[in-house]
Amino acid sequence: MPEKMTADRAGKSAPVKIEKLAAVKGMNDILPPDSARWEWLEDKVRGLMGRYAYRNIRTPILEHTQLFVRGIGEVTDIVEKEMYSFEDRSDKHGDHDHLTMRPENTASVVRAVTEHNLLYDGGKRLYYMGPMFRRERPQRGRYRQFHQIGAEALGFAGPEVDAELILLAAALWKELGLTDWRLEINSLGQPEERAQHRAQLIAHFEQHADALDEEARRRLHSNPLRILDTKNPAMKAVVESAPRLIDFLGSQSLAHFEGLKAILDANSIPWTLNHRLVRGLDYYNLTVFEFVTDRLGAQGTICAGGRYDYLIEQMGGKPAPAVGWALGVERVLELIKEQGALVEHPVPDAYAVIPEASALPVVLQTLQALRAAGISVQMHASATPEGMGSMKSQFKRADGSGARFALIFGADELAEGRVAVKPLRSEKAGSAQAQTLQPLNDVAAWAHMLCPDTAV
Ligand code: ATP
Ligand code: MG
Repeated sequence: MPEKMTADRAGKSAPVKIEKLAAVKGMNDILPPDSARWEWLEDKVRGLMGRYAYRNIRTPILEHTQLFVRGIGEVTDIVEKEMYSFEDRSDKHGDHDHLTMRPENTASVVRAVTEHNLLYDGGKRLYYMGPMFRRERPQRGRYRQFHQIGAEALGFAGPEVDAELILLAAALWKELGLTDWRLEINSLGQPEERAQHRAQLIAHFEQHADALDEEARRRLHSNPLRILDTKNPAMKAVVESAPRLIDFLGSQSLAHFEGLKAILDANSIPWTLNHRLVRGLDYYNLTVFEFVTDRLGAQGTICAGGRYDYLIEQMGGKPAPAVGWALGVERVLELIKEQGALVEHPVPDAYAVIPEASALPVVLQTLQALRAAGISVQMHASATPEGMGSMKSQFKRADGSGARFALIFGADELAEGRVAVKPLRSEKAGSAQAQTLQPLNDVAAWAHMLCPDTAV
């Protein structure tokens, strides 16, 4: 049982028994071999973002609470009940900072872009990856620390950038081998258009007030659009018969939407119009979209995005249009698993078997040279201070590591300045391949034979 020392008031230390050390509910460890899947996904994303000329941005996990209240909106699940917020210790003036662990990253990106005047010489394409924090009820596909990858294009107004972002996401699904998704789109129009719709929407819901649940009634006048987004099946009928936003759009908004659809069609990206797809706040406008799957149960949205042309101004920046999306990494990885796509676990190219501890200085020199040459080598290391362990146990470890070769640093070979290279996977390596002796002072001459590509 681990013990922790704490200082009591008298300054003496008293051991305090910690009952059980476990991760916080809803927050997960990502362990090997699973972490390899995360790295694989992140590598794919980095490559793809580079090809679309999106550049990486990294903002702090802690921000002023007010940033999210303004950037996400007061009448939202996140701000109403999901944020991890606290008061910082007071500074020397006695002021407390109200801080929040970011529940999403768009508000922070907008803050950073404004604070550093990033749009001074034109639009910027940015992407991020990292943990987000929301105090939701943990369940499959819904955690309290979860991870998002997001892309934001700031300073561009046309539908071609909305389309670029959707094509980027579709290209990512393709690279990841994901086929089980559908794209839902909608247009929220502009604030004036939404105001007219809003009045009729409220009238409709008032007429059917008995069909609304408590949350809907509460939001009826503060955020009626968000009622359309309800997950309550009992409200299906009242929501489906509600006035449709699209019928309130003017010609400019419709032209933007048509522009997007034409590009999607030309690129054979199938989409469906979902009239209930909304964002509840005034600074969201025009395009909204979601990538959805039926294979993950209730948590079926893997990626969500849209335009927020009024947010930058709302946050105190110079007015500039913007559009972006965020995907849920856990859900995407779960979908990959669900589809049976296999991600290979990394294995070392070689395992160093070291019969005598006295050989270690030479061995580590050789391994250093091999790794510099691009070879991945796992060194045998002993769990006890008494020597390196038997050859039998070392070879068992070598096998377990998945390495394709053992490097055997026996005393006789070392005396001749050589190391024995033994293929461990004869069925793959071909039985013709036998153990060889290689010179320690010229690693470059034989390192290549350990590579997965060259080893037959
Ligand atoms: P949902 O409707 O599932 O609650 P949301 O509208 O709150 O999603 P966004 O804020 O748009 O989600 O976040 C984008 C994506 O991040 C979601 O589509 C989802 O894939 C993922 N996501 C959101 N919340 C969580 C969470 N608590 N755990 C895991 N993934 C999440
Ligand atoms: Mg949510």
